[in-house]
Amino acid sequence: MKHVIIGGVAGGATAAARIRRADESAEIILLEKGKYISYANCGLPYYIGGVIADRDKLFVQTPEGFGQRFNIDVRVENEVTAIDTTAKTVTVQKTDGTSYTESYDKLLLSPGSTPVVPPLKGIDSEGIFTLRNVDDTDRIKQYLTTHKVQDAVVVGGGFIGLEMAENLQHAGARVSIVEMADQVMAPVDFSIASHVHRHLMDQGVGLWLKTGVSHFEQEEGRLRVCFTDGGHIMADMVLLSVGVRANTKLATQAGIELGERGIKVDSYLQTSAADVYAVGDAIEFTHPLTGQPWLNFLANPANRQGRIVADNMVFGNHTEYEGAIGTSIAKVFDLTVGATGLPAKRLQQLGIAFEQSTTSSAAHAGYYPGAFQLTTKLTFDPQSGKLYGAQCVGHEGVDKRIDQVALLIKNGGTIYDLIKLEHAYAPPFSAAKDPIAIAGYTAANIISGSMPVIHWRELKEMDLSGTTLIDVRTADEYSLGTIRNAINIPVDELRGRIHEIPADKPIIVFCAIGLRGYIALKILTGRNFKNVRNLSGGYKTYALATQTIRHETNLSQSTETKMNETNTANSCEKNITVDACGLQCPGPILKLKKNMDTMAAGQRIEVKATDPGFPRDAEAWCQSTGNRFLSKTNDNGYYTVTIEKGGAQPAMPAAGGAVPKNKTLIMFSDDLDRALATFVLANGAAATGHKVSIFFTFWGLSVIKKEKKPAVSKDLFGRMFSWMLPSDSRKLKLSKMSMCGIGDKMMRNIMRKKNISQLEELRQQAMDSGVEFIACQMSMDMMGVKQEELIDGVTIGGVATYMNRAEDACVNLFI
Ligand SMILES: Cc1cc2nc3c(=O)[nH]c(=O)nc-3n(C[C@H](O)[C@H](O)[C@H](O)COP(=O)(O)OP(=O)(O)OC[C@H]3O[C@@H](n4cnc5c(N)ncnc54)[C@H](O)[C@@H]3O)c2cc1C
Repeated sequence: MKHVIIGGVAGGATAAARIRRADESAEIILLEKGKYISYANCGLPYYIGGVIADRDKLFVQTPEGFGQRFNIDVRVENEVTAIDTTAKTVTVQKTDGTSYTESYDKLLLSPGSTPVVPPLKGIDSEGIFTLRNVDDTDRIKQYLTTHKVQDAVVVGGGFIGLEMAENLQHAGARVSIVEMADQVMAPVDFSIASHVHRHLMDQGVGLWLKTGVSHFEQEEGRLRVCFTDGGHIMADMVLLSVGVRANTKLATQAGIELGERGIKVDSYLQTSAADVYAVGDAIEFTHPLTGQPWLNFLANPANRQGRIVADNMVFGNHTEYEGAIGTSIAKVFDLTVGATGLPAKRLQQLGIAFEQSTTSSAAHAGYYPGAFQLTTKLTFDPQSGKLYGAQCVGHEGVDKRIDQVALLIKNGGTIYDLIKLEHAYAPPFSAAKDPIAIAGYTAANIISGSMPVIHWRELKEMDLSGTTLIDVRTADEYSLGTIRNAINIPVDELRGRIHEIPADKPIIVFCAIGLRGYIALKILTGRNFKNVRNLSGGYKTYALATQTIRHETNLSQSTETKMNETNTANSCEKNITVDACGLQCPGPILKLKKNMDTMAAGQRIEVKATDPGFPRDAEAWCQSTGNRFLSKTNDNGYYTVTIEKGGAQPAMPAAGGAVPKNKTLIMFSDDLDRALATFVLANGAAATGHKVSIFFTFWGLSVIKKEKKPAVSKDLFGRMFSWMLPSDSRKLKLSKMSMCGIGDKMMRNIMRKKNISQLEELRQQAMDSGVEFIACQMSMDMMGVKQEELIDGVTIGGVATYMNRAEDACVNLFI
């Protein structure tokens, strides 16, 4: 039997070796148009970046070695230019220009894919590259050594683009990524990609999302990368990585049936032509979950198909291929991102009903050093719990969790199977309750209705005026950032402060990652609060998904940032080293503060943490406390910051280092002019971006009464107050010159004429700008004011709520 194989890398080389093992007597010819076979294309970016120092390591086999070991006729630089499926021959072109015809009994096509090169003006300019094979690699490496590449631009945020971004930075360039979509890494959902966005920015990579490249211009030896929105950035080199296309040219010309984008094969990997098979990037195959044709451009399926197809070519069509679900993983600097199955966005496109859940927990026992957080997102059937997909991002252990879920998905598993997974556990490797089991338990709670959830996007887009949003984290965590309109009732205080929460409004609770939110939800529902939801993935997911994307590049971020080191060297008396690894925010900051309290001015502290937000928080904390932030380093996900204790320390806040910049106003009066002044001040303060809270107490409650109020039952005193006090803001009187209401009307008329916003407009503007309206519970009780009588969006709170806001504020006004 004579087997001819086109393409000598992943699929082709695997099939050739397997055919030999299956049939010692077969004639095998391997035709490869390039100079090399069986090389590690997946390792090419790391050779460019210098991580793989030895070029020879890229070659798993040489043509000679492979040919000799497997008794295969390996012919490199032999390109197949035509196939005659009737005569069962291929035409081969050699690099010397000669060509010949080769016959076959069985033919395998494994020609791979080719990078997409969009037809943009200037795309052929010097310094613009794609990466597919060893020749491309050599060209890029050569360019990097012969040119001073200070700024590199990667167009396309797929996994090759991201790997190249990292490696170009290793090679010494400042790197920017330009991506047309709103996220990098298409196989994962936006919220998971947001972790990558944050990490890339932390590493000093400039991110240009939702940015299309229109053309390239050459300018004084550099490249101007021009955007469709009129903007541009300058580069010394550009790496184009905007996707790949299946190599179908040969098959098309031979009359072999194509699918939508790749060569069509049956379950035995045979094409429409007799005795012609195809594998790898060039084929499309039915996706086991969607039932639709799909190309996945991954090495594992290519290798596996190579083995299956070899058996079918030798023994006849007996072994079927079950299809791949796109299990993939990538290292992006210190972060690992893995995915399998279908993300939410794909399920949405396909119109498949699904539910999703996001959980975070330490990849191994938190008390064992180096416990990094792992975030897992699951997609599943909302009724049966059948698993559709999983995405995982973290520093360690992403691969094993994704592989576990992938196996379950391929076997039709459900989220309940995740709970049943029996995993090998010891503190350095996982937790007794593994992150994957936690993901399963959480998904099961969502399906059973035990924990209704809201997802970050819905929360971001919803009108919160009729909803109570409760941040159940500690005051320290709250002070480091929260969601607009959220009030802070730490979960441990919830039972004691339950009266602050209106029972008739929908409630959304959230914590850092979802666990304390779940406990809060159970407390509330256990006390008959209806319509309570927990924010899936917590504030961490929300904050990452709504973060600002930065364009700045910075080479030094990935290595070390040192500030004023020399100036302070002499004053350094003693160094304290603190290990805060495994602690989540605000743990590292609290540990830092506790140690700083014991130090004298001029002493230094070094804190090592695994919380990626810690260096940023520590820097902000130093600014507000008069300490000196000296340096931050990142070593494979271990963040070390060095701080010198400043001279004067009295300003150090208790609340985890928050800089008190918020404002509070107590609206005690029901005078029209005082109310106007209050909202003018509140709107001005809100415009500075800081949180503003107005506490309406006693007579001030009239300022936030509805004009049209529902009928409510009141006792005698309540009814008396209603008769005596202004029924709503339109009835407020001036503190001076009211003149039986004439002055009030005059004032409103003057304001109208001078185009000054009326009280009600100013009040609405304040609410729209996120100013928090708190109605005093005690005043309401005393004066018989019911919540239904107050405008929507008002929170009911006690003195503790006000004090909590005041502690974080630098301006507190009593009006
Ligand atoms: C930089 C890079 C990094 C990658 N990293 C990963 C990774 O981390 N994980 C992962 O799963 N996948 C990765 N991939 C994808 C993976 O390499 C491919 O999915 C896999 O190699 C596909 O195997 P294949 O046999 O179909 O094609 P290839 O391995 O590309 O082999 C095709 C071969 O066919 C030859 N050929 C084409 N036409 C002809 C012809 N007419 N005559 C003769 N020879 C021909 C080509 O020269 C080529 O050598 C990466 C790819 C690249 C380029």
